[in-house]
Amino acid sequence: MGRPLVCLCLTGRTLEEDVAIAKKYQNYIDVVELRVDWLEEDERLKIRDFPSMVGIPTLLTIRRIVDGGRYEEGESSRTMLFARALAFADSDPMNNFAYVDFEEDFNVPSLQDAALAFGTKIIRSFHDMKNPVKNIAARLEKMRTTGYEIPKIACMPHNLSDVTELFKEASQLPEGEQILIAMGSYGLPSRILAERMHSYLTFTSPAELSANLAELGQIDPITLSEMYHFKNITKDTTIYGITGFPLKVTSSPKIHNAAYPKEGMDAVFIPFKADTVEEAKAFADLIGIKGFSITIPHKEKIIGQLDSVEPMVTAIGACNTAVHEKAGWKGYNTDCIGFEKALQEFTGLKTLEGKKVSIIGAGGASKAVVYAIYNLGAKACVFNRTVSKAKAIADIYGFEYASLGPESIDKIKAYSDIIVQTTSKGMGSTEASNSDNDPIYFYDFEGTEMVTDIVYEPEVTPVMARAKAAGCKVDNGYNMLRYQGEAQFKLYKGVYGSK
Ligand code: NAP
Repeated sequence: MGRPLVCLCLTGRTLEEDVAIAKKYQNYIDVVELRVDWLEEDERLKIRDFPSMVGIPTLLTIRRIVDGGRYEEGESSRTMLFARALAFADSDPMNNFAYVDFEEDFNVPSLQDAALAFGTKIIRSFHDMKNPVKNIAARLEKMRTTGYEIPKIACMPHNLSDVTELFKEASQLPEGEQILIAMGSYGLPSRILAERMHSYLTFTSPAELSANLAELGQIDPITLSEMYHFKNITKDTTIYGITGFPLKVTSSPKIHNAAYPKEGMDAVFIPFKADTVEEAKAFADLIGIKGFSITIPHKEKIIGQLDSVEPMVTAIGACNTAVHEKAGWKGYNTDCIGFEKALQEFTGLKTLEGKKVSIIGAGGASKAVVYAIYNLGAKACVFNRTVSKAKAIADIYGFEYASLGPESIDKIKAYSDIIVQTTSKGMGSTEASNSDNDPIYFYDFEGTEMVTDIVYEPEVTPVMARAKAAGCKVDNGYNMLRYQGEAQFKLYKGVYGSK
């Protein structure tokens, strides 16, 4: 079996619309799935012509509501539609449907016979839109009724553990003889690593469907191909990744995956969302991940899962990088190196001696920032919503600490040469500054402060926009991300290809 095929799911209202979308992605896909249940009623009568209209091997699917589709009419009208689509086989197979999806409980022998006679492969499917499916091997075996069909199971994991279980079961299955998909945002790795799922194909969706497909656990064919180099993923490909929760925003896959071909590395970097560090580590162990980045909110708790950590992790109390070395999992912190380099560039200063710095936030990333500020010789005050956390960090370095509210305005003024924003409060917000997206909304900038936000999405965060308007020099967290990523890359490269 070669690599898994890439199938694009078409959910247009008309056949013309579906053809236009398919053409846009044609260089990145092997198969299109015509979702007849999404078509307008009149269009459904013309589906027999679709394979010749699109010129790409087509999977015919008429999905019922119970299986996550939109087809509301009864089974007899669905049977008629299937019959209409599979009738009058053309001598050129490209003008016939290449595949047809019959659900496990849809058994119409005449349709099955017609499909087989015309060389249309049957995909025998089972969907559980709410739960994971266990005992996959037995279930797939039961679904093979004629011996010719490709069984498909699509299910909804409740967490990353359910996905891990699916990968574990899939590893025992023959390569490419079934289709397995874990849906939803936990399931994204099952689509990118379809090869490890021993899946016949992977499903993709047009980017037009949603601004952030990844949040839905879906992926578009161009991202799959150009960012993840899907067609190059084999059983020998080294896997790296990033974990966190909810892991909605991350540029790391883009940065790391872009570097692998340049470095001649056969590797892929995937996001895997995990509620707990235990689940993240179990997933990494099962699929043989060699190194992974850790983001919000797992940077502190991951330490308990590792076999050893570098001294900087102990000093900072947070770890953003786990590497599978010969002696086991080792934790590193590259946030500190990344922030220090980015701050030196931003301020144009090699040391911060004599400077007074406000550090907003006392989470995992803040710990690395405080460490770097201390290293650079500045005096600082740490502000946080949960004051006890600000105190715990500040005490280590002999810094001041304070609550994060209007009562601390004078304190911020006293430490206003540089203001470093490290909370997640403005992350993802494109609205103007307000009390929900700007952690220091109550502080009026003089215009002399240098303000850096370690958040990089959006490019200009609400607090940055406000500071800039007041005349301050501002920067976002992209350079920190880039430099910490470069340091991570070196660590990951150190274990590249190791068994
Ligand atoms: P974390 O450990 O979960 O800490 C979150 C911090 O934000 C805490 O100080 C928390 O205060 C504060 N916070 C959250 N919601 C708040 C709210 N509504 N009001 C006031 N404070 C709030 O997260 P982290 O790992 O430190 O990450 C924080 C941010 O930094 C994230 O947006 C992350 O993407 C970004 N980051 C960027 C880089 C980079 O390379 N540029 C690297 C690391 C992190 P409490 O303690 O009171 O909960």
